Amino acid sequence: SDLDLPVVIPEETRSLEVSQCLYPKEYEGHFDRLLIPKDEIAQVVQALAKQLCSDYQGTRPVLVCVLKGASPFFQHLCDHLMQQKQGFDTEFIRVSSYEGTSSTGNVQVAGGLNLQHVQNRHILLVEDIIDTGTTLSHLIPHLQEQASPKSIQVATLLKKRLPEPAKCEAKYVGFTIPNHFIIGYGLDYNELYRDTQDIFIISKEGIDFDAT
Ligand code: 5GP
Repeated sequence: SDLDLPVVIPEETRSLEVSQCLYPKEYEGHFDRLLIPKDEIAQVVQALAKQLCSDYQGTRPVLVCVLKGASPFFQHLCDHLMQQKQGFDTEFIRVSSYEGTSSTGNVQVAGGLNLQHVQNRHILLVEDIIDTGTTLSHLIPHLQEQASPKSIQVATLLKKRLPEPAKCEAKYVGFTIPNHFIIGYGLDYNELYRDTQDIFIISKEGIDFDAT
């Protein structure tokens, strides 16, 4: 049962019901529609892990989780690599370029990564989503200069289909999705909605919601 990656999520609404998802009740009305159900995410993460095991066989890559959004994806990916007895090390890096629902283009690399731990290694950056590619187009040259890696690749769960090409491509892409602001499975809007297992398109009510 090999999946062809990336899985293309179409523009049109598929008949997927938000009502069948689990989420905290404070999120009621905040989802426009369900974009990717958790079972579909799980299948794709497994397929990505399989591809990684084959490509990194005989090596010990260091997986760099780009916080916070990639955290659930990273965890599930690691589970599958362990299942396949593929060894790896883990590092974490905090990067932010988003304010509200739009990319500021102002990329901040903040803490968490010990450069000594990635020196001369096969680096796999684990990202939640590639939108404009701005974040990775800053992060990759930074690591290339500071860590002289043996190789550096990107695994992203999601990539938006935009009219403009992204500033950075990933070797491993789980899904391509239409151009909407999405939330869930680690992806936030002003720090909310990371705590759902499915991926949704945010509603106007969700965007306007003020938690304070
Ligand atoms: P880029 O630099 O590629 O434009 O954007 C990458 C980062 O912006 C991602 O790591 C993610 O944190 C954030 N981002 C981009 N698109 C979305 C989206 O649709 N929803 C959420 N929640 N974050 C996004």
